[in-house]
Amino acid sequence: DASPPVLRAEGLVKAFGGIRAVDGVDLSLDAGTISALIGPNGAGKTTCFHLLAGQLRPDAGRLWLDGRDISRLEPHRRAALGLARTFQIAGVFPSLSLADNLALAAEAPRRPRPGLRRRAAPDAATLLARVGLDLDPGRPAAGLSYGQVKRLELAMALAGRPRLLLMDEPTAGLDGPERDRLLGLVAGQVAEQGLTVLFTEHDVAAVFAHAGRVLAMADGRLIADGPPAAVAADPAVQRLYLGRP
Ligand code: ATP
Repeated sequence: DASPPVLRAEGLVKAFGGIRAVDGVDLSLDAGTISALIGPNGAGKTTCFHLLAGQLRPDAGRLWLDGRDISRLEPHRRAALGLARTFQIAGVFPSLSLADNLALAAEAPRRPRPGLRRRAAPDAATLLARVGLDLDPGRPAAGLSYGQVKRLELAMALAGRPRLLLMDEPTAGLDGPERDRLLGLVAGQVAEQGLTVLFTEHDVAAVFAHAGRVLAMADGRLIADGPPAAVAADPAVQRLYLGRP
């Protein structure tokens, strides 16, 4: 298969004062895969996401999206090329209908450019069905449960037709069953739509249940990268999570 990875990062470095928050990260994500970035507090996960989406400029390193060098592009230009980060969604507007929330989300990231024919966004009913929300698209977003709002936010991210979706703790605030449901929906979209996802998640059991690949980070570096079972068995990861010498 000659097609380039959806995302490739080489030698990413970001220091804050004396702290190297990201200290030489290389990674490559193939189309249609779901990977989790794990690591203890302060490992550098959030800084890594900022570098990938463009909120921070690296001190060193380069990035490619579908083989195109995006290292110097502003976040909105990366978004226009299909790199989405869930927090970039403005949030749900309670007084607007579900359909209008989805329509706004579809318009935001992909700026119309001359000579670029846009693919139409999927309709509201299709997007709601994809996230398991069996609700009238005309109803207002007000009154949804917290779990339903999280799923509407996922539908809003999908409405922008991203190529790569970076999700920083998408299940924060959800209980166990809701967390599994949301990650299961994301994994389903990866399988059905060929979406590529990188997410962070503190619940290790949920990571191992839903990620196809796990990237473990500590002190700014990737210390393990592979299928969940292999990463779980890695001595360096076990030391990190279980305190084993
Ligand atoms: P958490 O799981 O707690 O969100 P994280 O893995 O996302 O942690 P980062 O937030 O990327 O880790 O932080 C990595 C390191 O960089 C930490 O030591 C943190 O204190 C430091 N750091 C992050 N952002 C800044 C900043 N803007 N200024 C100074 N130091 C920072």
